[in-house]
Amino acid sequence: MQATLEAIVAQNRTLTAHGKVATYIPELAMGDANALGICVIDGAGNVHLAGDTDIRFTLQSVSKVFALMLALEDQGFAGVFDHIGMEPTGDAFNSIVKLETFASLRPLNPLINAGAIATTALIKGDSVAERFQRLYNYIEAIAGEERISFNERVYRSEKATGDRNRAIGYFLRDIGAVCGDVDEILDLYFRQCSIETDVIGLATLARRLALGPEAEPALSPEVLRIARTFMYTCGMYDATGEFAVKVGIPAKSGVSGAIMATAPGHELGIGVIAPALDQKGNSKAGVQALVDLSRLLQLSVF
Ligand code: GLN
Repeated sequence: MQATLEAIVAQNRTLTAHGKVATYIPELAMGDANALGICVIDGAGNVHLAGDTDIRFTLQSVSKVFALMLALEDQGFAGVFDHIGMEPTGDAFNSIVKLETFASLRPLNPLINAGAIATTALIKGDSVAERFQRLYNYIEAIAGEERISFNERVYRSEKATGDRNRAIGYFLRDIGAVCGDVDEILDLYFRQCSIETDVIGLATLARRLALGPEAEPALSPEVLRIARTFMYTCGMYDATGEFAVKVGIPAKSGVSGAIMATAPGHELGIGVIAPALDQKGNSKAGVQALVDLSRLLQLSVF
């Protein structure tokens, strides 16, 4: 495995030059455009590392998976899906275009920004601080305390510049897809995106999603099933179909250049970081590293 991972990093590192680090959240522009790091935690629980594995990065959209899981725990199936749809969009992750045209006036799925903001709004708690702490604890319980932290600078940077998400939040309230204080909901959303980890933390999260419900910490089988399904159908924004064909396992990317990929049949979790992104906002070298890894280890579910 070690030699395989090192070969994959060596093969794909040059691709980082064809991508661009996200700058619309100014603090993310600090990411190392040349970096590529990967961690695989295999079926036996062994940790394998290659490339730039010391980097810490924010979860960004990867956090949407755990916000969905906690919202499902808090509100149940109908409590979530009465407000949010289940269909892929084919549009960019932060697109507004379908919100008004879709007949039911619900965001299409929980992994695009509109659906994620509506999902985050469903997390229970008496204040933003309490709701955030519950989500943070949920993620930390899976990844381990030493792997999870909060990046205050990225949070402030997104909060200062997140007008598109603000527009989405207010539009969602106007159409009745969220209720309550929009600024508070967005604050919670910006905070969840700024939870920070490293590739070992990301692979640990991924591996937990690959295991059955009874592994530690225990997770509801239904919640686990729904999370994996959305990752497979919607996890890579408007490149999810191509990713399913070429890689074939549930995954979720973030604009920090992170990708969390999970292979339930192999009880294997993968964390990748390569901040230079392709045009759809997925890690340029990270996606190709997963194409190669999936082919070599025959991970695809079909
Ligand atoms: N915080 C980012 C945003 O809302 C998350 C998006 C992403 O990772 N694709 O724009």
